[in-house]
Amino acid sequence: MSTIAFEGRTMSDQARHAEVAGAGFAGLTVSIALARKGWSVRLHEQNDELRDFGAGILLWRNAMLALEVIGVAATIRERGVLPDSYDTSLNGELVSEEIPGFPYWAITRPELHALLTDAAREVGVEIVAGSKAVAAEPAGVLVLEDGSRLEADLVVATDGAGSAVRNSLPALVQERKKYQDGVCRVLIPRPDEFKGEEWDRVIDFWTLEPDAMRILFIATGPDTIYMGMMASTANERASRIPIDVEVWSERFPHLASAIELAGVATGGRHDAYQTNKVTPWSDNRVVLVGDAAHAMCPALGQGASVGIVNAVELAHTLDQYDDITEALAIWEERERPMSDAAQARSAFMAETRTMAKGNGFSAEVMETANFELSAAGPDVLALYPVPKGARP
Ligand SMILES: Cc1cc2nc3c(=O)[nH]c(=O)nc-3n(C[C@H](O)[C@H](O)[C@H](O)COP(=O)(O)OP(=O)(O)OC[C@H]3O[C@@H](n4cnc5c(N)ncnc54)[C@H](O)[C@@H]3O)c2cc1C
Repeated sequence: MSTIAFEGRTMSDQARHAEVAGAGFAGLTVSIALARKGWSVRLHEQNDELRDFGAGILLWRNAMLALEVIGVAATIRERGVLPDSYDTSLNGELVSEEIPGFPYWAITRPELHALLTDAAREVGVEIVAGSKAVAAEPAGVLVLEDGSRLEADLVVATDGAGSAVRNSLPALVQERKKYQDGVCRVLIPRPDEFKGEEWDRVIDFWTLEPDAMRILFIATGPDTIYMGMMASTANERASRIPIDVEVWSERFPHLASAIELAGVATGGRHDAYQTNKVTPWSDNRVVLVGDAAHAMCPALGQGASVGIVNAVELAHTLDQYDDITEALAIWEERERPMSDAAQARSAFMAETRTMAKGNGFSAEVMETANFELSAAGPDVLALYPVPKGARP
């Protein structure tokens, strides 16, 4: 067993050091944000390859503000798709056509992951692939599967909803809940019939009889479409990867050509909806960020965005205090109400399937998207103005 120590370090003479477990969106973002504040950061990823699976992601204003602070938003604005409207169709009839009042971006998950990985490397984050964390000690030690004990000023657990690091800390109490639905997510090449500006929008196709099935159809670039295919987990055929072309085409015959492509798409994934609420988010010098702290149902499209926001806010708050545990408490007090509200709201929307009638971009629904980061200065906020009508 080896111990790597960072002894005798004080804020004034040496950079503070973080060991981060999990290189998803939350882990990469917190690593970049800390490194930009002068921390030395080592980021561990259990997989041998650094990448995300084949799907798309929506990034709302809150995430874009955070990504702007760490310097990657401009590329997303450049490469992502800016959907002009959010349309909802129920049983083949358009039931709502909504504009949320301010822009949001669609991009593929692999692209976002690659952008963050490049940014992390540029700012000096040491990324160790094939390195699995199994536990942490509250005094600031990350324990790896090979038995190494890595000391740090701060251990950050960003190892996702099933976080092994979180589960090793009895002081962090969690409530987990599973829901009725799940989603198959795939990326398909964009067929000619779905090219053109009229398809640069989010289209949410629903049928509720004999059971709920939904296809969220999002152009993520000139050559890709992201399909989020939701069904009850009790519907085994509709929960399969690869996609069961027959069962989906029967329900959505007008999307048959896209469903054919979904059936042969590789790299997709099925996830059942689940939430975990953890209290508190830290134990002494170990802190949870992202799904490890607050996995949520995807109704609001905010899970990753809230994690990205909290990651940037964490680095900003730590920069303002010498005492790490004091900074963690202040950070959680500010971020928790917004994160809890997003979790509760998305769970309600998922349980009641309200989105079959439209997104309903009320000020309340937009509250998370409009959250203003303390890390974002006036110049950053000015890039994403909130129209009056969209303010909560
Ligand atoms: C259907 C669906 C649609 C969604 N759409 C959106 C959307 O449009 N917008 C949005 O903002 N959010 C969305 N989300 C939520 C979003 O996908 C998650 O919140 C986000 O991916 C969580 O990021 P994370 O980095 O916290 O965790 P993860 O993505 O789970 O990443 C964890 C990382 O840690 C690694 N890891 C795990 N265990 C260990 C270990 N022991 N040691 C080392 N490494 C480890 C994993 O391999 C992985 O790389 C959606 C979710 C679902 C289910």
